[in-house]
Amino acid sequence: MNLSDPVETLKGIGPKTAETLKKAGIKTNRDFFYNLPRDYENYQKATSISEMRPGKVVVKGKIKNLTSRRARKRNLSIVEGEIVDNAGSSVKVVWFNQSYRMRQFAEDKEYCFSGTYELKNGRLQITSPSAALISDIDSKSGLTPVYVAHGAVKSGDFKRLINGSRDKFSEIPDLLPSVAKGVRKESLFDIHFPTSEASIKKARDYLAYEELFELILASKLNRLENEKLKATPIKFEASKIREFVGKLPFKLTNAQRRATWEIFQDMEKDQPMNRLLQGDVGSGKTMVAALSALEAVNQGFQVAILAPTAILASQHYEGIGPLLGAFGVKTALLTGATKKKPELKKQILSGEVNVVIGTHALLTDDTEFNNLALVIIDEQHRFGVEQRQKLALKSPSGLAPHLLAMTATPIPRSLQLTIFGDLDVSILDEMPKGRQPIETKIIKEVDISDKLYPEILRTIENGQQVYWICKAIDDGTFGGEKADITSVKSRCKKLQELFPKLKIEFLHGKMKPLEKDQVMSDFSEGKIDILVSTTVVEVGVDVPNASLMIIENAEGYGLAQLHQLRGRVGRGTAKSYCFLLTSGESAPSRRLRELEKSTDGFHLAEVDLEIRGPGEIYGALQHGALDLRIATLSDTKLIARARKDTDEFLKLGPDMLKYKELMEGISKYQQITTLN
Ligand code: ADP
Ligand code: MG
Repeated sequence: MNLSDPVETLKGIGPKTAETLKKAGIKTNRDFFYNLPRDYENYQKATSISEMRPGKVVVKGKIKNLTSRRARKRNLSIVEGEIVDNAGSSVKVVWFNQSYRMRQFAEDKEYCFSGTYELKNGRLQITSPSAALISDIDSKSGLTPVYVAHGAVKSGDFKRLINGSRDKFSEIPDLLPSVAKGVRKESLFDIHFPTSEASIKKARDYLAYEELFELILASKLNRLENEKLKATPIKFEASKIREFVGKLPFKLTNAQRRATWEIFQDMEKDQPMNRLLQGDVGSGKTMVAALSALEAVNQGFQVAILAPTAILASQHYEGIGPLLGAFGVKTALLTGATKKKPELKKQILSGEVNVVIGTHALLTDDTEFNNLALVIIDEQHRFGVEQRQKLALKSPSGLAPHLLAMTATPIPRSLQLTIFGDLDVSILDEMPKGRQPIETKIIKEVDISDKLYPEILRTIENGQQVYWICKAIDDGTFGGEKADITSVKSRCKKLQELFPKLKIEFLHGKMKPLEKDQVMSDFSEGKIDILVSTTVVEVGVDVPNASLMIIENAEGYGLAQLHQLRGRVGRGTAKSYCFLLTSGESAPSRRLRELEKSTDGFHLAEVDLEIRGPGEIYGALQHGALDLRIATLSDTKLIARARKDTDEFLKLGPDMLKYKELMEGISKYQQITTLN
């Protein structure tokens, strides 16, 4: 067996199963063995049905009277029946949207169920338990793995497949030079076929170490590779920068000064800068970008600034353009909606335009530069690796541009130590003076007329503006699925009926670029009182006069996204408020409660990491390309060991290539941890 062979080469996996697995990203044998259990059920903790108490329960029994039906509301499929144990006691069991349960059970076989025993609609029942054949459970430990269901391949199916490949584990080769022989295959075996809690722990420790080793090695190799590249040194000249700073309507924060200084020093080198500028929403990253651009243009070079949306690109253009223009810098905007593109592109090629601010439209092959030396990417996590690389290739041949990537998604310190340990990072950890912290409140939808409408009127009477965020554009659907949430359009209509005198407009991603720009600039200029919008305003838009943010269906967003949305207000001197609307059916989640308590993006990022685990956080940062399976980044000892061992490994130099599987494996991580 070869780990890189396609998964259908394993015995028992036919073309149809392979197809389903592939859709779930399980393409090779390696992917197959590394599809780790999401959890374990401990069936040794089984109780008899008569002794059950509400809460999490494990029971053994046979399935009787299984039926299925559809609930009219929300189009739910419901499978229900009874579990009957040896003593003859029975309990109702219900599964939602798991119609395959109808085919799973044989009436005469005994199964073990693990789920929640609770009161629903006046009856006690076990809701959506996992189920395993008694004969499949390791009889000594009582432990059985639970896998994430992938389409037609359910947890039980995967268990059967991995069981069919039991004898193949012995053929799994070692991966890391720093680990004893055989540990890899033993760990993988134990994680799928645990004999005790301790064996799971040991296996996880190895697999976490392996993961960290690869990640850290990738990031170190990137640094080494970046050091081999050549870039144009941009000599620092203080006078013009001083003059520019002197003319700003405000004083730079110390954090902005420090970051700018770090950037100037990087750009003086003949190796490309590869720096991440990290700063919470509203910390003033754009000004740092403007200063860096000015510095490059002063020395005769061109600059490209890439933004993820046309709205944001236009806003940067309107914000930075005039400031730089006063110093003789010619700035141009290049988005999908730009007219006379060919003329503009000629001016870019000739060097007549010094700074180009744009969206993806900037990445096309026919956008050529005269002497591009600095690339600035705003909200860099919104771009894929290929897109970033495309831009990097627009420098004169043989030279890489200096690269400044900006992000408002704060990276928790624990991630910083591992993944970004070898990246140069500048942090804006200080807000511009005069900002007041945003006050956040969770309120139930039923309370909006009492608690929210007066707030809205007060805000508008004070001459300030309001954002109202909705999830869906149209009524009835969201993301292709049925949903009963209020859409942008109907919320806009309702508000207009309620407040006929106010100017209310809506904004969403499916509008034509020109329409979007119009609405956004009207809002910027204060011509609109309430902007009802989808999350298109999430990234970067800056309207300091807006001081009230309302997020409808707040439970439907992640913590980072809510924080980012909230950051649209609190950008001026007025006190700002954020209201998180919930249906009120259940108590607010920890996410919302944390948001109510804190406005510190770094703190919230740590909390998010704790709630969701590192894979998803990093996914949010980087297009979901990386999904840490097990490593917990709070395990500093393991991280320290992996760092030390990678240093040792790097000493091998070109001999590293002998570790073929390892070197191939880390290239996927390398793409993620590089900016250039
Ligand atoms: P972000 O880091 O979220 O991109 P912006 O660059 O959009 O933040 O800045 C937010 C607002 O703060 C803008 O209106 C900007 O003009 C203003 N600003 C930036 N730096 C300062 C400063 N040093 N003092 C006061 N206001 C500032
Ligand atoms: Mg910004």
